[in-house]
Amino acid sequence: MKAVRFHAPGDVRIEDVPEPTPGPGDVKIRVRNCSTCGTDVKISKFGHHHIHPPRVMGHEIAGEVVETGAEVTGWTPGDRVQVIAAIPCGKCAECRRGRMTVCPNQESMGYHYEGGFAQYLVVPAKVLAVDGLNRIPEGVGFAEASVAEPLACVLNGQELARVGPGDDVVVVGSGPIGCLHVRLARARGAARVFLVELNRARLDLAAGLVNPDAAICGAEVDPVDEILKLTDGRGADVIITAAASGAAQEQALQMAARQGRISFFGGLPKDNPIISVDSNLVHYRELTIVGANGSSPAHNAEALRLIATGSVPVSDLITHRLPLDQAIDAFGVVARGEAIKVTIEP
Ligand SMILES: [Zn+2]
Ligand SMILES: [Zn+2]
Repeated sequence: MKAVRFHAPGDVRIEDVPEPTPGPGDVKIRVRNCSTCGTDVKISKFGHHHIHPPRVMGHEIAGEVVETGAEVTGWTPGDRVQVIAAIPCGKCAECRRGRMTVCPNQESMGYHYEGGFAQYLVVPAKVLAVDGLNRIPEGVGFAEASVAEPLACVLNGQELARVGPGDDVVVVGSGPIGCLHVRLARARGAARVFLVELNRARLDLAAGLVNPDAAICGAEVDPVDEILKLTDGRGADVIITAAASGAAQEQALQMAARQGRISFFGGLPKDNPIISVDSNLVHYRELTIVGANGSSPAHNAEALRLIATGSVPVSDLITHRLPLDQAIDAFGVVARGEAIKVTIEP
C-alpha cells in the first residue's frame, strides 16, 4: 500500500509499504480521510522526540473497518469509524480522576503508532480499551469526521476556559483551529466572537467562512485597543490564543475583562516558552489562565455529535481535498497558510 512516512527532519517520503496486519485485539481500517494540521508541518521539518523513524504520519483519521482481530467484539467490516489521536492509558492517577488529556503515559497515533496517511491503518487495542474508536453518525462524511479530532481539542480548550452564554470571546489566530474556536464559541452561546490575525489574507479567508463579529488584523491596528474599544473598555470574557506566539499571550492578558479567562491554547516553541505576566492584573482582576493539551476520547465522541447535529459545521472549512501522492504538497499549502483545512484521501 501507499503511505507517507517520516524518515528524518526534511525527509518525508511517499512510498510503498506492506499492508499492516491486526493483532488479536486490533481493528484494521481502510483510511478514507486523514486531515493535515500545523503539527504535521512541524513534524516534517523538525521531527518529534516520540517518533522513531520510519513512521507513517497523520492523526486526524476516519475510515471504514475491513478486518477485526480474533478477540475484538462490537465491530464488523463496513463500520464507518473515527479514531482518537491521543491515547490515554486509562489506569494512572490522572486517568482514574477523569483527567485523560493530561495522562503522563499518553501515546499518539502517527507518533508511537503508525498514522493515517496510508491506505490502511491498524487501530491498536489500546485505542479500543479507552473507547477511542467512534462510530461516524449517519449523514456525516469521512472528511467531516476526520475534523472531529481537532474539534475535540478545541472543545477541551473551551471547557477549561468555561466559554458560555453571554460571553464576549476573542480568538487569536485564524487557522483551522481558530475557525473551529469561533464556531464552537457561538454554539456554546457566546454573545460576540472577535477574530484576531496578523496575516490580512488569512484573516479575510477565515472571516469569510466563520463571520466573526469583528475581524481584526493585528498588523494594521493594535488588537488590545480594538478589543477594548469594541467592549466599551471592559475587555473580553474569554481570550483564546490559537497561535504559537508569546506576544499574543501577553496581549491576551491585556484584553481580559474582570474575572476573564485566558486560554493558552497554542503552545510556544520549545526554545522560547517564557512570557511576562503582570501578576497584579491576574490578582486584582481575578483572571484565570488555562492551558489545553489535546483531547480525551469523550471529547472526540462529543465533537462528532456537534458535527452531526449541525451545531458546529465543518464541511465548508475543508478547503482542499488531495490524494495521498500529493501529501507533501499539502504540507506546503498548510505551511503557507493558503488553506483552512486540507484533507488527504488515500
Ligand atoms: Zn493535529
Ligand atoms: Zn493515564
